[in-house]
Amino acid sequence: MKKIIYSDQSGKSYTKSEFIRYFEAKVFRTIRKYGMFDKGDKIVVAMSGGKDSVATAHILNQIISKRGEQLEALLIDEGIPGYRDITIKDAKKFCKDEGIKLTIASPKKEFKFTLTQALNKLSKNPCNMCGTLRRYLLNLYAKKLNATKVATGHNLDDEAQTVLMNQYKGNVQLSAKLGPVTGVTEHKKFIRRIKPLYFMTEKEVAIYTTLKGFQVIYTECPKARDSFRSTVRDQINDLENNYPGIKNGIINSFLEMLPRLRKELAPKSKIRECESCQEPAAKKICSMCELLGEYRQAK
Ligand code: SF4
Repeated sequence: MKKIIYSDQSGKSYTKSEFIRYFEAKVFRTIRKYGMFDKGDKIVVAMSGGKDSVATAHILNQIISKRGEQLEALLIDEGIPGYRDITIKDAKKFCKDEGIKLTIASPKKEFKFTLTQALNKLSKNPCNMCGTLRRYLLNLYAKKLNATKVATGHNLDDEAQTVLMNQYKGNVQLSAKLGPVTGVTEHKKFIRRIKPLYFMTEKEVAIYTTLKGFQVIYTECPKARDSFRSTVRDQINDLENNYPGIKNGIINSFLEMLPRLRKELAPKSKIRECESCQEPAAKKICSMCELLGEYRQAK
């Protein structure tokens, strides 16, 4: 008798091997549909060592080994004790097993402080500060690695949460930067992000990495618990339990609106260079340089 390990919303059931085929085929279709690769690309995977980045890197490694593009991994160690140190170990093991070169960058190396040290000095939202550090270092080091694209492990749940968070906060212009291939306008110093897992749910990614036997932890960052994102995530999960299809509904309607949103907001979304560090910025001074200024001034 067939051992069923997963049933989708339409009631279709999958055995282990069927699920792995379904998952990989859907990711391949997303990559093709959104033209995520160009000939001669060097893709750098934003590696955290968690399930999403591991699944992304594994699938890209399968494709790239056949096509001749290059693949490397980049991990930003923001400095979260008891969490990132564990995922770094997993990332190192995974990259070694897959033969993927891993580079580790950190605010400690770059700016001489960790996220935890900065949070002790500045009373700021941990995820906002972490996001600023991570985005900045990811782009900076991706350029150092001569990447042409950065692949992130964002899944359908992540994107649905971000879309709603932007709506709730009245930041709809930020949503114009979302989508399977990010960005409203191009800039030579900004490396485009691609999201191969865009249409895969969090649950599906967890099943895939478990079935593949990857060594990853399934606990979340301790700072995530009280975040706005976790409130929105719980809300969407509750809705999905009661009204299956909500997550797909959020993403499908968002993708219908995205071209119009981008067209409308493109003139206002010009990327400029930060007057202090010359990295890409939305304002005169980038968020990273603002944060550095605040950190240096704080007692
Ligand atoms: S939950 Fe917040 S602090 Fe933790 S890794 Fe994510 S963004 Fe950073």
